[in-house]
Amino acid sequence: MTAQVLKQKVCDAIDARAQEIIEIGRHILAHPEVGYHEEETSRLVTEQFAKLGGPIQKGLGITGVKTYLEPHGSGPTVAVLGELDGLICPTHPHADPRTGAAHTCGHNAQIAMMLGVGMGLVDSGILPQLAGRIALLAVPAEEYVDIEDRAALRREGKIEFYGGKAQLVKEGAFDDIDAAMILHSMPGVAERRFAVGGSCNGFLAKAIRFRGTASHAGARPEHGTNALNAAALGILGVHAQRETFRDEDVIRVHFVMTKGGDLVNIVPDDVRLELFVRGKTLEGILDAARKVDRALQGAATMIGATVEIEDLPGYLPLLQDKVLADSFHANAISLTGENSVWRGGHMAASTDMGDISHLIPSIHPSGGGYAGMIHNETFSIVDEEMAYVTPAKALAMTVVDLLTDDGVLAKRVIREFVPRLTKDEYLGYLRGEGLPKKDGDE
Ligand SMILES: [Zn+2]
Ligand SMILES: [Zn+2]
Repeated sequence: MTAQVLKQKVCDAIDARAQEIIEIGRHILAHPEVGYHEEETSRLVTEQFAKLGGPIQKGLGITGVKTYLEPHGSGPTVAVLGELDGLICPTHPHADPRTGAAHTCGHNAQIAMMLGVGMGLVDSGILPQLAGRIALLAVPAEEYVDIEDRAALRREGKIEFYGGKAQLVKEGAFDDIDAAMILHSMPGVAERRFAVGGSCNGFLAKAIRFRGTASHAGARPEHGTNALNAAALGILGVHAQRETFRDEDVIRVHFVMTKGGDLVNIVPDDVRLELFVRGKTLEGILDAARKVDRALQGAATMIGATVEIEDLPGYLPLLQDKVLADSFHANAISLTGENSVWRGGHMAASTDMGDISHLIPSIHPSGGGYAGMIHNETFSIVDEEMAYVTPAKALAMTVVDLLTDDGVLAKRVIREFVPRLTKDEYLGYLRGEGLPKKDGDE
């Protein structure tokens, strides 16, 4: 059978289950949960995976679930991912009144479409025609939020990393996956459109504490060391670095001051800042982060204060695989029309799919059917077929492309992919061990 015939069978099978896929999406929308606490959503995914008939792994990063569809033959393993978590937005119409959790990023649609891919591939009976394995992976905690809660989970030994995909990489859930796909909502785009390719900023976070010496601010300032003045100079020092940031790195450095001192008649001795360094390239982020550290330390030296800088790894920039993106692009056009698919572009937002894209070939296209603003009470699904069902078809068709003809396209994707980091290098980076020197580095 040609790939075209196989794709038609999968799409017909997905259409036959469309109402069920939409119901799953609605159910998760109505039962939102925050990262690493997606117990009900995880249970629903496990139930649905059981119906697909493959082996199931549970408890990945606390709530993550993985299954394999049972293809015949051997070959590369392609994964379709969905994220389990919502955010906190108590004013959203579908917020959980108890917790305030709400799906304001559309991850409920990701789970529904991922299950739709599984239903389509299994029901159509085409798996014996595909070489390789297909994994479905429901991942926890994409949103980098709830830092205190995650710190507590970490102290309890339940997680090491605050982002769900990093945690799953550590636990080995990506060890046998050769290529990964996930599709995100496109907020404010109600039309039947997709976007594919392009890149996203990565980021790292810093928690900063300037320490000085308290003293009477009127009577004995000469006995004090003013940590607020050190922090103010530090911020100016960072501003003075901005002309050295390269345009192509799209660097953003932004601060908040979370403690500026205690009482106005005491020389401030404890001043705290938090900041993000965002950028399009890891090298750019690390370069800017070094300059930030230098400016903050220089400011502390000028005043005679000290500064403690805690680095918190955020997410890596997103690098989408061109061959995978081309396949997805062609399939998307076949579903929504020639001029309906946008290509390329850079977004200053971040996702932990960026981390995965440094390790294995990955794509993170997005699809329409949504109104309102992302991470906001106005976020809503206005075209359920486009949000839940059509992307399942596009992803399943891309799986077919990859694994027909003895998996020739998947093998090409894997052969041509140059990993930016190995798993060990990546985990080392997250643990603050820096990055390995590559050939050609100065
Ligand atoms: Zn989000
Ligand atoms: Zn999201």
